[in-house]
Amino acid sequence: MKYVIIRDDDTCAVTPIACLERLYRPFLDRGLPVNLAVIPNVNTRATFADGKEEGFLCFKGANEPAHRPIGSNPELLEYLRANPGFKALHHGYEHNYLEFDQNDPATMGRKLDEGRRYFEAAGFAPPQTFVAPYDQLSRASYREVARRFQLLSTGWFELGKLPPEWWPQLILKKALKRPHWRAGGLTMLSHPGCLLSYRKPLDTMLAAIQQTVGQNHLTVLVTHWWEYFYQGQTNEAYIAVLHQTAAWLASQPDIRVIPFSAIEDPGNAIIREALRQ
Ligand SMILES: [Zn+2]
Repeated sequence: MKYVIIRDDDTCAVTPIACLERLYRPFLDRGLPVNLAVIPNVNTRATFADGKEEGFLCFKGANEPAHRPIGSNPELLEYLRANPGFKALHHGYEHNYLEFDQNDPATMGRKLDEGRRYFEAAGFAPPQTFVAPYDQLSRASYREVARRFQLLSTGWFELGKLPPEWWPQLILKKALKRPHWRAGGLTMLSHPGCLLSYRKPLDTMLAAIQQTVGQNHLTVLVTHWWEYFYQGQTNEAYIAVLHQTAAWLASQPDIRVIPFSAIEDPGNAIIREALRQ
C-alpha cells in the first residue's frame, strides 16, 4: 500500500469558500481528505520577497484591517465544519515573509502559542501538525515546534538549521536516503517540492505525481489554492489537472489518501513503516 497526503497552503480569513469548493469538491465527494494549512491571524499586507502582495490576499476586501484572525470569517468556519474532509493544519502566525526563520526562541514560541489561541477562539481543535511559511524554520523554531506539535510537514532539512542534538538522526536519515524522520519528539515529513504548481508545465504534472507516488511509501503533495485563481483569473487547465489527480488517486486500489492526523501518533503503523523506508 502507498499513502498520499494532500496539503493545500494559505487558507486564511480572506479565502473565498467558492475557491475551496471549486478545487476540492471532487476530493471530498470521493472521500479523499484535504489538509488545509491555515494561517491563524493573517497579515493582510503580507508580501512576497520581491515586495509584491502575497497571492493568498488576491480576494481580500478593499478596507481590510491589518490582521484578520481565522475566527473573523464565520461563513468559512461554517463551511469547514460542514465538510469534515477538510483538516486544519497550523500554518505560521501572520504569514510574514520567512516569519519562522528567525532564531529567537521567545518570539517563535509566543507566535506558536498565540496562533494556537486563534484556532481555539475559532472553535478548532488545535492542530497537531505545523507548516512554516515557505517551509523555512530556524533552529529555534524547530525546537519550539517540537515542544508543541507531533508533526512537521516541510520541504527539506539543512544540518546548519537543526538543533545539534538532532544531527545524528539527520545524518542517518540522509545516509539511508529516507524522506521522513523523527528527532526531539517530532515526526518530520519532507515533500518532493510543489508538483502541483502554477510554475510547472501542466502537460507533465499528473505523470510526475504518478511517478513520485509510485516510488514512495508516503508522499505529501503540496499545492496552494490561490494559484488556481491568481490575480482573479481562473486557470481552468490547472484545475483540470488537480481534478484528474483526484480521479487517479481514487481509482488506485493500492493507494490510500490519508490526513496528517492519521499519523500524528508516532506508534501508528503507517508512520512507523514510513520512517523505516
Ligand atoms: Zn504559506
